[in-house]
Amino acid sequence: MTENEVNTEDVETKYQLSFDFIQKKLEGKKDSYGMLMKEIIRAGICTECGTCAAVCPVLEWDPIMAQPKLIGKCTGCGICYNQCPRTITDPIQLLGESITGYVANTNIPEVIRGQDGGTVTSLLCYLFDEHLIDAAVVTAKDPKNTWHPKAKIITSKQEALEASGSIYCHSQTVDALMDAIRADYHSIAFVGTPCNIDAVYKMKNSPHGMLKYFMRANVLTIGLFCMDSFSPETLYPMFQKDGIDLEKVIKMDINKGKFNIYYADKEEPVKAYTIRSLHKFKSSSCNFCTDLTAENADISVGSVGSGPKKNTVFARSALGAEIVEDAAKKGYITIEPYNAININSLLFLAKLKKVSQYTAQKRKVYIVRDVYERKEARIKTKPIAEELTSILTTRRAISVTKNLDEKAKILYLTITNTAGFTLDNLQFRIAAVDEVFERQPWITNIKELFPYESIEVEYPVEALEGSVLIEATSEVYGKVYSKTLKYEPKK
Ligand SMILES: Cc1cc2nc3c(=O)[nH]c(=O)nc-3n(C[C@H](O)[C@H](O)[C@H](O)COP(=O)(O)OP(=O)(O)OC[C@H]3O[C@@H](n4cnc5c(N)ncnc54)[C@H](O)[C@@H]3O)c2cc1C
Ligand code: SF4
Ligand code: SF4
Ligand code: SF4
Repeated sequence: MTENEVNTEDVETKYQLSFDFIQKKLEGKKDSYGMLMKEIIRAGICTECGTCAAVCPVLEWDPIMAQPKLIGKCTGCGICYNQCPRTITDPIQLLGESITGYVANTNIPEVIRGQDGGTVTSLLCYLFDEHLIDAAVVTAKDPKNTWHPKAKIITSKQEALEASGSIYCHSQTVDALMDAIRADYHSIAFVGTPCNIDAVYKMKNSPHGMLKYFMRANVLTIGLFCMDSFSPETLYPMFQKDGIDLEKVIKMDINKGKFNIYYADKEEPVKAYTIRSLHKFKSSSCNFCTDLTAENADISVGSVGSGPKKNTVFARSALGAEIVEDAAKKGYITIEPYNAININSLLFLAKLKKVSQYTAQKRKVYIVRDVYERKEARIKTKPIAEELTSILTTRRAISVTKNLDEKAKILYLTITNTAGFTLDNLQFRIAAVDEVFERQPWITNIKELFPYESIEVEYPVEALEGSVLIEATSEVYGKVYSKTLKYEPKK
């Protein structure tokens, strides 16, 4: 071999070694090829740049499907996910800018009803005691409407203690803030969810006539981490139907994917719902929200990223950092340094929230409550339009995922347009298949199903094991899907 010739075997080995090195470094992270498929490719935002295939030895670019294809065993290292230009993986993009972070908890015995570590209430106590604020805007329970939030102006430490705890519903905090400024309070601490904080941030930074207000008062913003909030008009009646007496409830919290409800000061919740089962009670705005950690606040406080009865705290402004550190110095709270935060769990959750901007279009939910026999139980089908035969036989026009809720005897079907273009005037037919007979057909028409848009169907089933037939015919393209899917209980 001459001096200028390259030994390709050596080069390949070097690349393989560096790939192994990065894989090792990313071990234990939850990013993977599956996430790339779900968040970027199936969400329809892939730019077809091919980077994912270029960086991984077991991925290659599939020109027919116009997407990456696995040709070997995926280790789940997530290199493809992290290198994709469409994913949001940078910590600053995910959590916003901050001066520093802490894990914190209260040292005040009276903060017994603090939601997590009681840090927010303790900071308010410190601010009142030190005469740094003359009022605060908090959210307490409405005395006239059980467990409904009521934003209010408070002027004492005692009132801060009484307002501790979280109510998982929208609160009109900005209204109370404006009242506080009009009432001539000059230094105000404002506690709110990221969307509340954004409203104040916008007023301060893009005033459009709000100048007169914000020249009159200093507003310190304390933001709460927030994944979602719920509509009390629909959530609470459901709780009551399940036998929960809201008058007896002393706390609600969200932990590890569960919404827990507590009576008295017991450790165990009286009822726990999976967050998934409460999806339909979620405020619609939260489906479009991308800020988990109140990125525009002076101080942000949440529970994810720290242990039980603790808080994760970010100080984003110099003022915020000084307040947290002085409150700790004066004994109101205990703080541990930034590296005490479980940053991976925080990044993972923040990522889920950031990608909601991509997946929001999939959140249309059609729910079948009663299936019934209909005279026109068949749909008129026609063959696939000739010009599309090759493309639709290679790419599946429709893909269906199923999930059986064994307790409720509901088969959850997510039907997605994977054709890569809008399917017009679709007619869906879903029917239970009993031997050769079909029963309980459900038929619906959908004017347009956009690329990668999904419809979700809750199809009631009689038995825990069986089959359903799913058919889809487009008026323009003909029969685009027909399959009998088997379902059975999880082993
Ligand atoms: C709607 C909502 C969703 C949340 N989701 C998450 C999440 O997904 N992950 C996470 O880590 N943390 C979440 N939190 C924050 C968490 O519940 C705690 O508020 C936070 O950890 C601070 O805990 P703490 O012990 O310091 O609170 P505390 O010392 O008990 O103080 C809580 C403060 O929150 C105020 N407050 C209560 N309800 C509301 C409301 N609806 N709007 C505005 N202010 C309110 C109270 O006035 C009080 O001052 C959420 C909070 C809310 C309100
Ligand atoms: S092995 Fe390849 S496909 Fe699997 S996660 Fe890593 S980079 Fe992605
Ligand atoms: S790197 Fe991302 S955008 Fe580029 S082809 Fe792969 S999935 Fe698509
Ligand atoms: S998820 Fe977003 S919109 Fe919904 S309450 Fe939280 S911050 Fe507000």
